[in-house]
Formats: sequence, structure tokens, C-alpha cells
Amino acid sequence: MSNTQTIWYNMLKMDDFIPPKKNKHNDEHCWLCGGKLNENSWAIKDAITSSFTDVSLAKNNASNSVCCACVALMKKEAWYEACEKHSNSPYFPIKEGKKPYLANWVFFSHIFNDNKWVIPTRAELEQCLLNPPQPPFSIVITETGKKHLIFKSNISLSRDHFFVQLEEQSINVHLDDFKKLHSTVKEAYNLGFSKDSILTGHYNYSTVLKIGFKIWQDIENKLKKVRNTNKKLLSLSCFVVQKET
Ligand SMILES: [Zn+2]
Repeated sequence: MSNTQTIWYNMLKMDDFIPPKKNKHNDEHCWLCGGKLNENSWAIKDAITSSFTDVSLAKNNASNSVCCACVALMKKEAWYEACEKHSNSPYFPIKEGKKPYLANWVFFSHIFNDNKWVIPTRAELEQCLLNPPQPPFSIVITETGKKHLIFKSNISLSRDHFFVQLEEQSINVHLDDFKKLHSTVKEAYNLGFSKDSILTGHYNYSTVLKIGFKIWQDIENKLKKVRNTNKKLLSLSCFVVQKET
């Protein structure tokens, strides 16, 4: 099973997402994920719209067919079905006096594991990264809410060493390293340094003076190492870090 198939069938426990027309092609493997096809595969032209820009990521260019899981994890109709099954609202938060507006996979971050699907807030993402769910699981985080990311994500099999799909980046997370880094980031953020300065190393001088040169230097020495060796991990930490209340 491919990663999308694992998410759709094993984690979301969904059935085949049936194509509008029978696929006439006789392919064995999915164009996008490379996973095995069953009798309900989709023809590419029915499955993929012209707005799909990640053609170069297709695992099996020789195929003219896409599996139900890959299609489902991109289509609104399947989003709706999965929301119904898992008691998530398929709509954007409803504003008073406005009609409900149907959302889709791309607008949200996702945490999938066995029969569980969470659409997390950033605070929930922070908790999830510090205390990962029972494997196998998949964590997909969007910053822009604009692109299909689920098919790019990896399945994690360990809580100590796992993957996070942060927008286009696949990040390898060693839990101990992340915890250590994140406590420094959290300290810096709560002292008043901006996320941007933590990420780039370009600090506002008056903030440094206000907080104290020695404190800043201790923090920056730790951050600098990671900024130079594992910028992805630092960007993940900055994305989810919360102010202590
Ligand atoms: Zn597929």
C-alpha cells in the first residue's frame, strides 16, 4: 500500500471513492502514488484537474490511472464523506447570517492515525509534536492552505523518529532533538523575540538590550547551531510555538 492508500483506507477507514465513469485503462499501479490499483481506479483526466501543479512528483508516469485514495484525498466530495464519518465539520467556521461554505483538504493541517483524524490548531500541533500519537501516523501541516500536501506526506512508524510534512518540506524529526530545540525557541519567544528573528538570526537591537545581552547570547548560541545544521526543524518549531499564558 502507498502512503495515500494507508491514510485513506487504514487510518480514515474509508471505502473506495467511486469514479463518475469506468476507467478504460488497464493499469496496475497508480500514476500519482505508485500503489496498486483496484477495479475502481480513476482515469487521470477524471481525477486530476488542470490546477494540479505537481505533475513532476507522479511516481509512475507510464500509468493513465489514479487510485481512489489519491483522488479522494484531493476532492471536495470525498472530503465531505470523510468529515461525515469522523464527525468533523466539512464547512469553514460559520459566520452569523452567512451561508455555510464547504471547505476542502487543502485548507487545513491534519493528523491521521488509526481510525483517528484531527484537524489541529497550532497549539494542538505543538502538543502533538512534543507527544506524538500512536504509530503509524501521518502529520501534514499547511502554512498557506493552498496546496495538496497529503499525498506528499510520509507515514511515521515511530514516536522517537518521525516525519512531518510542513508545506513542501518533508522534515525528519528526532523527538529528543525537537524537544531540546523547542524549549529554547519557546523561551526566546516568551521573552519577546519574534518568530522571524528566531528563525533568521536578525534580532531587533532594542529587544536584545531590553531582555539583556547575556540572556540573548546564551539563547542565540543554541539557536545558531540548529539554524546552520537543521533549519527545517527550526522552522517547524517556530511555526507551532505558543506563548505561555
Ligand atoms: Zn494513488
